[in-house]
Amino acid sequence: MKTREACLEADRLDPLAPLKQEFFLPEGVIYLDGNSLGVQPKAAVARAGEVLNQEWAVGLIRSWNTANWFELPRRLGNKLGRLLGAGDDEVVVTDTTSLNIFKALAAALRIQQADHPERRVIVSERDNFPTDLYMIEGMIDLLQQGYELRLIDDELPLERALRDDVAVLLLSHVNYRTGALYDMAAVTGQAHRHGVLTIWDLAHSAGAVPVNLRAAEADFAVGCTYKYLNGGPGSPAFIWVAERHQDRFWQPLSGWWGHNRPFDMATAYEPAHGIRRFLCGTQPILSMSLVECGLDVALKADMAAVRAKSVALTELFIELVEERCGHHPLTLITPRDAARRGSHASFRHPNGFAVMQALIARGVIGDYREPEVLRFGITPLYLGYADIWDAVETLRDILDRGSWDRAEFCRRSAVT
Ligand SMILES: *Cc1c(COP(=O)(O)O)cnc(C)c1O
Repeated sequence: MKTREACLEADRLDPLAPLKQEFFLPEGVIYLDGNSLGVQPKAAVARAGEVLNQEWAVGLIRSWNTANWFELPRRLGNKLGRLLGAGDDEVVVTDTTSLNIFKALAAALRIQQADHPERRVIVSERDNFPTDLYMIEGMIDLLQQGYELRLIDDELPLERALRDDVAVLLLSHVNYRTGALYDMAAVTGQAHRHGVLTIWDLAHSAGAVPVNLRAAEADFAVGCTYKYLNGGPGSPAFIWVAERHQDRFWQPLSGWWGHNRPFDMATAYEPAHGIRRFLCGTQPILSMSLVECGLDVALKADMAAVRAKSVALTELFIELVEERCGHHPLTLITPRDAARRGSHASFRHPNGFAVMQALIARGVIGDYREPEVLRFGITPLYLGYADIWDAVETLRDILDRGSWDRAEFCRRSAVT
């Protein structure tokens, strides 16, 4: 697409274009950060009102039953599971991704202690999202059983890291910084051949790329609902556990919501059967209720169409940046092969932070990640081809004029 007119024509022919109407998008903004915080589904406003004004204000304590609050983690988990190739009652929406990593890792290590007690290594990736690594470190420190973390990187590729001393492999399906995408089925198969259990972090995959956990024969998965699923700021995360693993052990955050009969108020813990044992305590019902609004829009779209548009928009973005901004020091760090990337594109620029602040000041909202990385999320449910054109034109203008080079664009806030 070489002209803005061609982009507008592509938008007119786009079968997903009507879904944009389902979201509130502020005037004058091109939002390229839906991989960090998704936009607001319009239905969320009415739903929040209903939960506040009816379910809470009027229903009060009765709403645990009458509004089915108690069933929300499982009901939403089943809806979400359809986007992940999960079976019924294999997913719950609950807690944070970080906490769900802890629960999945604990369960996986427990299974390995029974099946392969000598294995003491957890493999992850140096370039993984930090919380994944921090949670592994915390687990190792808690257990005091001589576990170690082995990180794959340019020097240590996965094939050499997966030795017979490894218990668990924890990877992000799509890398948060580069957008690199793993072949889940191939990597899971490789891990299983070494007797290793897999935990997939789907934070940048759920709602963005096709995922089929069952077909991949994966073991555990976790992820966010506030990114591509548009669940709202801090909305609860999810955890998926393959049915074959669910009842083998408890996870150690054995709160009453994971009890087999929570309202018996029994003295002793008895884990629920199935995925419900991965719950811990009382859920944030207001926030969790809104997750459904984002899920309902995502479920209206055919995932193959979402992926095709994501690839086309990302391709267009990369092409236009290289063509129109190629004389500036920008380096693509996202794989060029569409089959090997998720739904964002990242470029390094020596003044990446200031360039991004200048873009945001002009209404093109992406984000910045260390080191020097400009990150642009591509969300096919509410972005069009002309949006991509306009975003790149704004970037070109900022770079050509050097208008990023101002003190106000160097000031760092707490959140980048
Ligand atoms: C966003 C993200 C998280 C976030 O974890 P929280 O516990 O929700 O803060 C975790 N892992 C990855 C890979 C992410 O991209």
